[in-house]
Amino acid sequence: MTHDDAQQFASDNYSGICPEAWAAMAAANSGHAPAYGEDAWTARAADAFRDLFETSCDVFFAFNGTAANALALAALCQSYHSVICADSAHVETDECGAPEFFSNGSKLLTVRTEGGKLTPPAIRALATNRNDIHFPRPRVVTITQPTETGQVYTLAEIRALSDECRQLGLALHMDGSRFANACAGLGCSPADMTWRAGVDVLCFGGTKNGMHAGEAVVFFDAKLAEDFGYRCKQAGQLASKMRFLAAPWVGMLESGAWLRNGAHGNACATRFAAAVAGMAGVRALFPVEANAVFLSLPPAMAEGLRLRGWRFYTFIGGGARFMFGWDAEPQRVDALIADLRLLAVAEAA
Ligand SMILES: *Cc1c(COP(=O)(O)O)cnc(C)c1O
Repeated sequence: MTHDDAQQFASDNYSGICPEAWAAMAAANSGHAPAYGEDAWTARAADAFRDLFETSCDVFFAFNGTAANALALAALCQSYHSVICADSAHVETDECGAPEFFSNGSKLLTVRTEGGKLTPPAIRALATNRNDIHFPRPRVVTITQPTETGQVYTLAEIRALSDECRQLGLALHMDGSRFANACAGLGCSPADMTWRAGVDVLCFGGTKNGMHAGEAVVFFDAKLAEDFGYRCKQAGQLASKMRFLAAPWVGMLESGAWLRNGAHGNACATRFAAAVAGMAGVRALFPVEANAVFLSLPPAMAEGLRLRGWRFYTFIGGGARFMFGWDAEPQRVDALIADLRLLAVAEAA
């Protein structure tokens, strides 16, 4: 049995705050500073994003990913519009209707996918299926990078999607709650994976990347960002002590921790997946391209893991999900591998 605070791989949100984000918050915690984003930390964080993306984007800071996604999509839609997404998209399955709520009724149109990836033909089919006044008009495509099951769109795939979007008059939104893992996985620049590939708006996740809280909504087209500040305020997403939502981003981006953290989670996932490949009864459900590993396990093995104190979710992706965060400890990964090996031997016997 493990002690209570032993590391688990059920969710990358089980982790704490990484040293770089923590240090920046501590540095921001000195004296007074103007409220509601008028402070120097907020300006510096927005500049850090512009440096990172090599362009003059507009940046807003929300408390979490649900708000960031919902408000970004609401900014792109009228209430009579619709948003095309994968059936497994977080906006569809895990946001309690927030995108529909904050857009005053824009409908999500889902595409059945394997691994959560949309394709140009699937978008075209859905966007052109109906063009009469009775159906909510498609206006936006949202993709999750990496997907909820850990697949990463290649740059060519994103470009093909954005080309299709342009032809169909659709905007392209990216849910990047694990943006850093995708960047590390592809080994590409943030600019190449977003605006250079035709992404209009990005939600860049800080929480899973090692911050206490916070997602950045990055607009690559200034026109789309018009009035977005009002939207944030109305939705309760304008932090009064904004410096504490902004400073961690300064710590993450200026030090490069964002990318190191993502790469570390990915490396742990890859190592774990390699170690369990070939174990009796164990089968990987999806290719491992970021920090997620989904395993099909015989019921006795899943139960055995739970009895040994391991926690994992089975409601996403139809298998046992293991997520490796910025702080994944190699010894804990090894302990999980060792327990799986023992259970696999028992399974085979
Ligand atoms: C975690 C996550 C989010 C953000 O979730 P919050 O709990 O609202 O911060 C958004 N999209 C995806 C794909 C996620 O995994």
